[in-house]
Amino acid sequence: MERTTKTIAIANQKGGVGKTTTVVNLAAALAARHRSVLVVDLDPQAHATLGLGLEKQAGVSMYAVLAGGRDIADVIQPTKWNNLNVIPSEVDLAGAELEFGARPDRLEMIRNALAPVKESGAFDYILLDCPPSLGIVMTAALVATDGVLIPIQAEFLAMDGLALITGSIDRVRRGPNPALELNGIVFTMVNFVAKLTHDVMAEVRGHFGDRVYETLIPRNVRVSEAMSMGTPVVYLDPRSKGSEAYKAFAWEFMAKNPTRFSAPKQTPPPAAAPHEDKPDEAQRDHTVASVGADAPADAPVA
Ligand code: ADP
Ligand code: MG
Repeated sequence: MERTTKTIAIANQKGGVGKTTTVVNLAAALAARHRSVLVVDLDPQAHATLGLGLEKQAGVSMYAVLAGGRDIADVIQPTKWNNLNVIPSEVDLAGAELEFGARPDRLEMIRNALAPVKESGAFDYILLDCPPSLGIVMTAALVATDGVLIPIQAEFLAMDGLALITGSIDRVRRGPNPALELNGIVFTMVNFVAKLTHDVMAEVRGHFGDRVYETLIPRNVRVSEAMSMGTPVVYLDPRSKGSEAYKAFAWEFMAKNPTRFSAPKQTPPPAAAPHEDKPDEAQRDHTVASVGADAPADAPVA
């Protein structure tokens, strides 16, 4: 049986909005729910790589695949946690905008590189952590993906920032990736006491409706501490507000983005399909180990 792989780019041309934090903790929460996840770090700053407890390593990156012709299978790194893998970044990706700009396949390069990984059926989700610019790497990521998840902060000019990124999505949809979807918008670092927060959230919801995720990620110091310690907060401090929020977000994300085995459907369908809408129950048959609902997928392998 094969798994269908959903590829989602986490993008916003603005830096510091919580893209990388969302990638790391969504990935960790999905992995803890027995989903097989690959994070692709496309930002030369390599914060996702570091946040998942890996070191930067020359030649082990998407850059090495795109520019150096390395086999993508050789750069997929396991993390300390079950079901959670990463293609790291390295500084060379910083020069990539210039270098890649001249390539005839610059728009399709990431899609082509990821094709064998998608086809292998090894992952439920591939999450692409995009650099904070509307350049070649981010555009190529939009071409390579099924959907775009936009983390934003509920602050002044949020709608203007959204117009820029949704404009990019529209251009890619009219061109190389007609199937590209706006997967959703998620509010990060929410400050619940500020009135502006609620005004901005209402405005964004008014415009984007149910494409805005219900789950709000609060500002929580444990989230940033965890990143600097190379451990996702959902593993480091499962009971913290930030962890609870990212776990709730992962549930909402799974419900919105189910991945299903491509086995033939049963006919006739069972009288009741009680597990149909419960992501947690849906794919038990490929779990590696059964763990407590809120526990990390596995203890670190030291
Ligand atoms: P981006 O990838 O969009 O540049 P990051 O995910 O790196 O943004 O986040 C920017 C900064 O904000 C980082 O220092 C990070 O630790 C911090 N941060 C992100 N989310 C939260 C949160 N929910 N609570 C507190 N700090 C956060
Ligand atoms: Mg980032």
